[in-house]
Amino acid sequence: MNVTIIEHTPNPEQTVALAARLCYSPISIDDLREKLESTDIEQFLDKIMSLGHHSVLEHASFTFGIEGISRVTTHQLVRHRIASFSQQSQRYVSHKEHFTSIMPNSIAMDPDAREIFAFMSETVHKAYAQLVELGIPAEDARYILPNATETKIIMTMNARELRHFFALRCCQRAQWEIREMSVEMLRQVKKIAPVIFRDAGPGCASGPCPEGVFCCGQTAEVREFFKKLD
Ligand SMILES: Cc1cc2nc3c(=O)[nH]c(=O)nc-3n(C[C@H](O)[C@H](O)[C@H](O)COP(=O)(O)OP(=O)(O)OC[C@H]3O[C@@H](n4cnc5c(N)ncnc54)[C@H](O)[C@@H]3O)c2cc1C
Repeated sequence: MNVTIIEHTPNPEQTVALAARLCYSPISIDDLREKLESTDIEQFLDKIMSLGHHSVLEHASFTFGIEGISRVTTHQLVRHRIASFSQQSQRYVSHKEHFTSIMPNSIAMDPDAREIFAFMSETVHKAYAQLVELGIPAEDARYILPNATETKIIMTMNARELRHFFALRCCQRAQWEIREMSVEMLRQVKKIAPVIFRDAGPGCASGPCPEGVFCCGQTAEVREFFKKLD
């Protein structure tokens, strides 16, 4: 899996702080910009976040390039509606020459399971290639491709949606591949906007576990992990 931030709002924390300040100030935007200082920004952002004035976070956005993930994961990812996506097409990009699948660890660690998985991947690839050779268009041949098929996607989310996304997908209850991806995304955005994402992570990173009876029972360890994530 390869996750990188391709682009982001140049000064996300200043931009968010400026937007928030504007709401409570009678002075001009130019004067507000001049007044903003870095210490001021940190204190102010903390206050805004604790008050729940989260709409101002929508002024900062981040674009990620994600490669080497399965269609299992992108299918879950695109359920997040407050985001923009561009995914490699299986209509226009044929898998005839190149087909890669993502193998979960549970399968990779078991020699018998690994063999079954490898056999199925190879068989599916051969069948796909034969269909394409018979003149079946890639958009139809793809119907036999598995969930494990590797894909790539570019995704843009604003900081408010990212915090929501992390709350759901960094949780121990989330599926392993999307969790791995979202933890890596969080690690990277924290470097760019440390105040905005200071307490981001699964629900339990900033409050009680929201999972109720489904709680993983490892709240203390999970909190510690996300506190130290850098
Ligand atoms: C552990 C886990 C298990 C899951 N299991 C399943 C499953 O078995 N089956 C399944 O179908 N899905 C499942 N999902 C997906 C889940 O139901 C959501 O579709 C997905 O997590 C996106 O969440 P969201 O709707 O909160 O977020 P987003 O789409 O990112 O939206 C963010 C927020 O915007 C608001 N919003 C967005 N659109 C609307 C709208 N139309 N109307 C009102 N408010 C809106 C909501 O407040 C929402 O929380 C699972 C998710 C997780 C994390």
